[in-house]
Amino acid sequence: MTLSLSLSLSLSLCVCVCVCVCVWQVLLVFAKDDAQSNSFCWACERAGFRCNVARTPEAALESFQEKNHDLIIMDHRHSRYFDAEALCRYVYSTCVCVSVVTQRYVENSNMMSCYNELIQLHHGEIRAQIKLRACNAVFTALEQSQEAIEISSEDQIIQVHTHTHTHTHTHTKHKDRRKGSLDVRSTTSRGSDAGSSQRRHSSMARIHSMTIEAPITKVINIINAAQESSPMPVAEALDRVLEILRTTELYSPQLGTKEEDPHTNDLVGGLMTDGLRRLSGNEYILATKQLHHIPGHLTTPLSLNDIPPCIAQTMENEDSWDFDIFNLESATMKRPLTYLGLKIFSRFGVCEFLSCPEATLRSWLQIIEANYHSSNSYHNSTHAADVLHATAYFLCKERVKQSLDPIDEVAALIAATVHDVDHPGRTNSFLCNAGSELAILYNDTAVLESHHAALAFQITTRDDKCNIFKNMERNEYRTLRQAVIDMVLATEMTKHFEHVNKFVNSINKPLAALEENGSFVCVCAGKCILTAPENRILVKRMLIKCADISNPCRPLELCIEWAGRISEEYFAQTDEEKQQGLPVVMPVFDRNTCSIPKSQISFIDYFITDMFDAWDAFADLPNLMQHLDNNFKYWKSLDEKKLHSLRPPPE
Ligand code: AMP
Ligand code: ZN
Repeated sequence: MTLSLSLSLSLSLCVCVCVCVCVWQVLLVFAKDDAQSNSFCWACERAGFRCNVARTPEAALESFQEKNHDLIIMDHRHSRYFDAEALCRYVYSTCVCVSVVTQRYVENSNMMSCYNELIQLHHGEIRAQIKLRACNAVFTALEQSQEAIEISSEDQIIQVHTHTHTHTHTHTKHKDRRKGSLDVRSTTSRGSDAGSSQRRHSSMARIHSMTIEAPITKVINIINAAQESSPMPVAEALDRVLEILRTTELYSPQLGTKEEDPHTNDLVGGLMTDGLRRLSGNEYILATKQLHHIPGHLTTPLSLNDIPPCIAQTMENEDSWDFDIFNLESATMKRPLTYLGLKIFSRFGVCEFLSCPEATLRSWLQIIEANYHSSNSYHNSTHAADVLHATAYFLCKERVKQSLDPIDEVAALIAATVHDVDHPGRTNSFLCNAGSELAILYNDTAVLESHHAALAFQITTRDDKCNIFKNMERNEYRTLRQAVIDMVLATEMTKHFEHVNKFVNSINKPLAALEENGSFVCVCAGKCILTAPENRILVKRMLIKCADISNPCRPLELCIEWAGRISEEYFAQTDEEKQQGLPVVMPVFDRNTCSIPKSQISFIDYFITDMFDAWDAFADLPNLMQHLDNNFKYWKSLDEKKLHSLRPPPE
């Protein structure tokens, strides 16, 4: 039987929970018997539910008024027999029960599907309904009783004790934690309060039905249902799973702050929080520094053709991972981004894709580069050029090419170029603690990344001379813009584990499972995994993240230079925090005491190893993994010698 999503081919399930009954009562409203109604009858029997069948709306209402069914299943496929929606509305309006939830079930007369649907409803929806009813009973008890109310466990152990102004006690007894049913003494359950609290009932029902369709609700319902038929240890383990699922921070590892290594703690605190945890009361001093500045002049235009030979020479091996960006930095007098950008963008045909003259690209690269702060030791345009380089390198990997479209490649190159533009050389936590203008503008949320993305588009579109998007068709531009913003925001470290975990779960694991099978079907399925739009987003995020923090995977000398630069930038921040009486976000990064090898070991252990393992499994990067291994050993050897510096002292 073909499945159809259209309304006319679907069944309406109207779920009405009225009373706490031992045997569940189900009403089937089907004008005629068919495979679908027969399957539901069979499913009811198998599940031990009592089942009535009505052929007309009138018969249905009569039966419902008499028996008050817990679940009504209406046939919504044949409007010529009766108007199921009108019947639904009528049930809603007459029902004085706690709540009514309507769901649709797409036609499927497979008996087990019907059975599963009933069981899901019974365990999931009903449990929630019972909780709602219990809440409601407590409200009613509070409203109507002048007494103190105790909610106790079955053996009368008090769970909650609410005082009102009286002397006697009302018990709300918590019966069975696993079943989640609550037995309310001293208040009647059904229909007792239909008048005054009916409005509240129906709004509770609305709230319930608003969330009922969310995927997480379904997941929780499935787990609840599984718990019912599981042995106690499994049910208890699932309880813990549910507890975790109810939190919002599903992707951030929890650090036991005490025993962890202080370098890891500080890196996590400094890079992964907004500084709030460390607020101590007087930090919201308004920053006086103007963070965002646009240069008054543009430097002399240049073209790919008139790049000085010494610069061209340093870029000859730009397609190699071992390319030395610091040579280019000195050869270009700290303007590596413009030159490398011209070369890489031309290699990828970006101007052709954007229908943009090369002169516009040149001006754009120049103005973007001018908005990086050359005074930052790490977050300057050399870092942007380095990330652009790594991005271009990753884009040439076979798997990445299979996954991404040309527009994704262009977006990735643009995102890498602008991803830290106007970086003030201070972390998000610092800006939040200092109450900087940017932190206020972006509500302490992804402050820098929001600024980089927003400023990049402002600079680009403000002046036609550097507007590389000027000739793009509107929809193409919107798609490209969305992709660039998404990638720049993905560089925010608070989301690090979320991006890495999603990549592993949605891409690494399914691909690995397919590879184990290795058939032709799997080749097609693999292609589907790689090119699904939601997966392409994950690939792009992972790509820019890995490019952004790839410095521990560069050849040793380059890796050491980057470690020196980031440490210096952190030291400068600590100096300023101390000077201004701000909270010190990363106390281990104090120039007088810091062990750089230890900090690098922690950074690699905590952020780099897992991420690059996953990226390598996808993109195949043995040379990077080899460098990472060497570099890690290098830092370990310095640490074992108790050295704090970047390099061992000369012999
Ligand atoms: P971004 O600001 O976009 O460059 O994000 C990368 C984050 O990783 C920044 O907060 C850097 O400070 C941090 N980071 C990059 N490389 C290192 C490193 N070698 N050691 C410690 N932190 C690093
Ligand atoms: Zn960066």
